[in-house]
This record gives sequence, C-alpha cells and structure tokens, in this order.
Amino acid sequence: MKTTAAIDIGGTRTKLGLVSEDGRVLARAVVSTPPGGAPEPLLDAIARELPPLLQQAGSALHPTIGVSVAGFLDADHSRMQGNANLPVLCEFPLRDELSRRLGHECLLEVDSNAAVMAEYRHGAGRDARRLLGLTLGTGVGGGVILDGSLLRHTGQCAGDLGHVIVAPDGRPCTCGSRGCLEAMACSAALSERAGGRSVREIVKAARDGDRDATDALRETGHWLGVGLASVSALFAPDTIVVGGGIGAAGELLLAPARESFLTYAGDAFREHVRIAGSTFEGWCALIGAASLALEGRA
Ligand SMILES: [Zn+2]
Repeated sequence: MKTTAAIDIGGTRTKLGLVSEDGRVLARAVVSTPPGGAPEPLLDAIARELPPLLQQAGSALHPTIGVSVAGFLDADHSRMQGNANLPVLCEFPLRDELSRRLGHECLLEVDSNAAVMAEYRHGAGRDARRLLGLTLGTGVGGGVILDGSLLRHTGQCAGDLGHVIVAPDGRPCTCGSRGCLEAMACSAALSERAGGRSVREIVKAARDGDRDATDALRETGHWLGVGLASVSALFAPDTIVVGGGIGAAGELLLAPARESFLTYAGDAFREHVRIAGSTFEGWCALIGAASLALEGRA
C-alpha cells in the first residue's frame, strides 16, 4: 500500500505525518507555528522533522508531499494570499521553497479543502453527494464537495465561510468585522467562555462533567448551528461534517449545534441535513492533503 507524507500548517501548530492510502496516519510529529516574523524558523522545523518520517516510509513512499495551509491560495497553488491567522506565510513562495528544501514536489491545498476531502474519501462524509466540511480551531474554515468536486470559486476554495455573520453585535473578528461565525465559534471564543482554559482542557473538563466547560461548549455549538443554518442556504448540503480541535468535543458541541440549526434553518434544510462529527481528531487536513497529493489533484 502506498504511503504519502503530508504537512498541515495551521495557525498555532504544524502537523507532519505519513498517511496510508486508506487514510490512516502511520507516523506523526508536531511543531509549533511561529506567530509572526520570518517563515524560516517554520521551514527549518519542517526540514528537520519530516525527513526521518520519509525514511520510515521507505520504498512505499509516494514522491509527492501534500501540504495543507490555513488560508487562501493563488491560482497556481504556489503561495498563500492574505490570511489573518497565518500572516507569516502570506505571499511567501511556499511551494517552491518547501519542494527545494525537502527534495520532493509539494502540492499546496487550502486546509478547509483538504479537511473536507479527508471526510469525503475516508470519513463521515463518504456517502455525501453535497458535502460541507467545517473546521473549528484557531480560525473557522469550510470546504464544499459537490458530486465529487471541490468548490473553488474564491481563493481556490469555497470562500471564507467562517466570516458569515451570525451575531451582528458579537465579538470582534480578525477580519475587521464583528460577530462572524469564526469570532463566535473559534478557540479564543470558547476559551473566553470557560475562564481562559485551553480547548483541550475545556473538552476534557466537559467530558468529566464540569458545568462551566459544558456551558461554554453549548454556547459555541449554538453559534455553530446558526452559522450552519446560514451557509446551508448557499450550498444545500446533504451532509455537514464538523472537525478541528473544538470538533473533538463531539456531541457536547454537536447536540446544541443541531438544536440551533433546527431552530434557524429554512424549511428546505431543516429535516434533510445530517450533521456529523469528524473522526480524525484534528488530523483531517493532513489526511486530506495526503489524499490529494496521491491523486495529484491539489
Ligand atoms: Zn470575520
């Protein structure tokens, strides 16, 4: 079975891994993404951590490396364009520089596309004809696959779904607006609602029955449901898969999200949309980037 190496460059952490053809992560490593400054420290960390994984794959290694990035791409997928959550890489010739350093061709893909592709190929979106994948983490991103094809109408993806406005008087957003789905359902918003704890701490505490953590996830789920109701009118999905660090909360997040979705969605969508959680525990963009690299599709 073929093995593909992949990199998922997120706003806070960068994940590296080997992914088998059937979507299993065989080996993994994580480095932190520098918040600003120059891109070199991040490239150095990738160039240090990935080669041992490539060696581990041996002759099963697919020659192309899939790279998921947290933001829009230019038309030929060579560099990222403006993105508030990953300014360090904006307009940097990432594809060529990574390919040069790693000695393998690298294919760049928008993380929301990579994440939804993982769900479509190997996860909760496998039987979907109209699939919407949403990732909740440092930012909130979304990707759409219609009849097997990624929607690429803005920034090589389905646009900035995280900036649909769900609460006009809500939290200020990194985009300059206020009350966007991202502002109301990102890690920082959840953390604020639970006394400054990290997402992992909140999810763990809620599982252990902590009331404040549960309430913080419920409120976050509420806003998620409002956002899903709004974007359903645009894409008419039959299946929505929610992933990312906050998605790890599972039903603690999804049950209140379904409740507000049922409250706010239009009649055409209320009964027909399945809302499921990702099973990839935050590794969906990495798995999807590997799938796309294997298919040569980024
Ligand atoms: Zn926004």
